[in-house]
Amino acid sequence: MIRAGDQRIRREKMARLIEDRGIKHAGVLKAMSDVPREKFVEEALTNRAYSDSALPIGEKQTISQPWIVAKMTELTRPDGKGKVLEIGTGSGYQAAVLSSLFDQVYTVERIPDLSRRARKTIRDLGIENVHFKIFDGTYGWGEFAPYRAIVVTAGAPDVPATLVDQLEDGGRLVIPITTDHKGSRDEDEDQTLTVLTRRRGRNIRESHGPCRFVPLVGKYGWER
Ligand code: SAH
Repeated sequence: MIRAGDQRIRREKMARLIEDRGIKHAGVLKAMSDVPREKFVEEALTNRAYSDSALPIGEKQTISQPWIVAKMTELTRPDGKGKVLEIGTGSGYQAAVLSSLFDQVYTVERIPDLSRRARKTIRDLGIENVHFKIFDGTYGWGEFAPYRAIVVTAGAPDVPATLVDQLEDGGRLVIPITTDHKGSRDEDEDQTLTVLTRRRGRNIRESHGPCRFVPLVGKYGWER
């Protein structure tokens, strides 16, 4: 049994490492040192909750590495307002981090068990502005669009136009895209963390370095 106080010390240390690696946004750093990551991993792994690595969460899926969670959150340019959509709820950890930085968080997961578990974890923490949906997230969540930001936490073959359509003007889509090395893409290839900003109907695309995510599976993602 690890005491809550020890976990807090580990969490604050993790937030300092993240800051050393270039994350500057004060709200993001605060969220990283507030959200109890150990609640989002299986009990047997709580000891490793604050190592800077991805960990299994069942169903062949993973909770993302803390640094990439912080990076993707910072890339949304959060200012405490507006709605954010997350595709790939997984453990719910990224959604919990987003919940203190946006008014409302909408999160979509295709695997029912993961979504239900994430909902329980988040409710048990007393977080009430996260809304869950079990569906193929490559369709987005049209009912609450447009969003100020959309974060996709699974690797896509390309930018799904469905998601771009659900961004408000000036909105940002943060998404890992498979790097096209040889013209023949597959879901095991490297990915590039990509930000697409929608501005007056034009899309501006920037790259933010390599990353590694499980595949985005669905109608506008990978097939299997
Ligand atoms: N954000 C998560 C990590 C997600 S891992 C966290 O903080 O723990 C990626 C998740 O994306 C997996 O749970 C996977 O099932 C989900 N996923 C993959 N394709 C999807 C799709 N089309 N729609 C919704 N979720 C999807």
